[in-house]
Amino acid sequence: MPTAPSPVVTSPTTLDAYRDGLSASDLFDSRESSQVGLTYGDFVILPDHIDFGVEAVELACPLTRTITLKTPFASSPMDTVTEAPMAIAMALHGGIGFIHYNNTVEEQAEHVRQVKRYKNGFITAPLTLSPNHTVADIDAIKEKHGFSGVPITENGTMNSKLLGMVTSRDVDFLTDRSKPLHEVMTTDLTVGHEPCTLEAANQILKTSKKGKLPIINAAGELVALISRDDLKKNRDFPLASKDANKQLLVGAAIGTRQADCERLDALVEAGVDVVILDSSQGDSIYQLDMITYAKKHYPQLQIIGGNVVTSYQAERLITAGVDGLRIGMGVGSICTTQEVMAVGRPQATAVYHTSQLARRMGVPVMADGGVSTMGHIMKALAVGGSVVMMGSMLAGTNETPGEYFYQDGIRLKKYRGMGSSEAMKKNSASRYFSDSERIRVAQGVSGAVMDKGSLHQYLPYLIQGVKHGLQDMGCRSVSILHERLASGQLRFERRSPAAQQEGGVHSLHSYEKSMI
Ligand code: NAD
Ligand code: IMP
Repeated sequence: MPTAPSPVVTSPTTLDAYRDGLSASDLFDSRESSQVGLTYGDFVILPDHIDFGVEAVELACPLTRTITLKTPFASSPMDTVTEAPMAIAMALHGGIGFIHYNNTVEEQAEHVRQVKRYKNGFITAPLTLSPNHTVADIDAIKEKHGFSGVPITENGTMNSKLLGMVTSRDVDFLTDRSKPLHEVMTTDLTVGHEPCTLEAANQILKTSKKGKLPIINAAGELVALISRDDLKKNRDFPLASKDANKQLLVGAAIGTRQADCERLDALVEAGVDVVILDSSQGDSIYQLDMITYAKKHYPQLQIIGGNVVTSYQAERLITAGVDGLRIGMGVGSICTTQEVMAVGRPQATAVYHTSQLARRMGVPVMADGGVSTMGHIMKALAVGGSVVMMGSMLAGTNETPGEYFYQDGIRLKKYRGMGSSEAMKKNSASRYFSDSERIRVAQGVSGAVMDKGSLHQYLPYLIQGVKHGLQDMGCRSVSILHERLASGQLRFERRSPAAQQEGGVHSLHSYEKSMI
């Protein structure tokens, strides 16, 4: 009787001989590859052995020399992406938001303050009206925002004396909508007094059976509002990005002009944790001067330089003292830089090369732009990105600035490049061009993206997806992924155009793509 062949014992060395695919250095540095810039669609990552559950996957990653995030996501400093509501939601889910600077210094600093002031469950920037506003103004708020419990303060703003509240009950059956609010508001109020914990506020709401609870300071001024609906939805955010005082982390962008020094002063005063020097081509004398200024005046403040795409550029900014780098030129979804300026670099190659150098110099890199799927996030991390910055992926969520509108029956929100004519016209023109530069060359477009709902559903979905991706690669954490990238254990393969087609949905008559 023939005997069964004896099993082949595979030692780790033998296994290595079977390893398929290419190491990152073969993918990006080989003679053939280094002549072609690669982007996320050009390659795929090979799976590896799984010996742990998806819940064991850790996403912690450094953003700068001293700041580590629990979720490797950042929102871009764009005026259709990041103001306080976006930055709060990003930080609650373990990432970070960078407040844009297409606004006045005071407006930008106020967004930073709102994030730093944020307390889970407390609304620190509610809509408020003055006693001289009318019932029609309440109608407008109800139509636009879907609620009508509005605090009335002496001058119609926060931090002004609280005089009353107007709810639907006060105005529902009134025929005269031009009546001033001081004639209809409720003045017999139940309030919470600062300092007030969430538990205490919750208790007052329960016993008073009110829908909204204003919180006032010793001078009777409105400092926050608590809503019964929010309390019901309220949950814990164990991943939240926080500073030593347990306040949420927030970043902000500035430019490299003289006036940006004052902006920096105001942001630091407001409590910003990290500042991005925001340029499409960050390897400039202007940026080097700004790094020197910022480091001299605020040595503890974390500074991210960029954007850069080559090792040479990265080295110059790191040597000048940046604590993190932002990588990406000409790859954003709204970008026309490569078309107009003929400069830029395919994103995977840019992230790989800059991160190799930056890793040796102890500085993390943020892969910025060109991410339009969850797989792109995975690839950005797999080629060396520590944090992934997104614009279009986050645009269209409830937390972005701007209103929804309908086009052909589809609910949309505006999303535009910061170098688009429209954004430059807003109030950034002086920032981009000196008076002598009368002819402006736009480097971006203005468009729209579909409604994505709330970040509180969307971010957990992205986080879970990235965990599954890491599990498929056999990596329990992003740091293990980066170790395997460096050692060559992480394997890649180029994709032919046919392979790219095969890797997407194909051969169907029709299909639906649902997010969750
Ligand atoms: P920028 O302000 O850095 O540069 C605009 C022009 O001003 C450049 O010619 C620059 O050299 C010059 N400049 C900057 N500081 C100066 C100083 N102190 N003195 C004299 N001249 C100075 O802005 P940008 O690069 O045009 O980018 C505008 C916005 O658009 C940013 O938000 C940027 O992120 C975005 N953008 C990004 C990309 C990208 O690929 N990542 C591409 C285009 C635009
Ligand atoms: P997205 O995530 O692909 O939409 O790209 C967002 C990134 O595009 C931003 O973080 C910026 O680096 C970049 N960007 C922003 N505005 C412009 C612009 O007007 N032109 C080119 N790139 C831009």
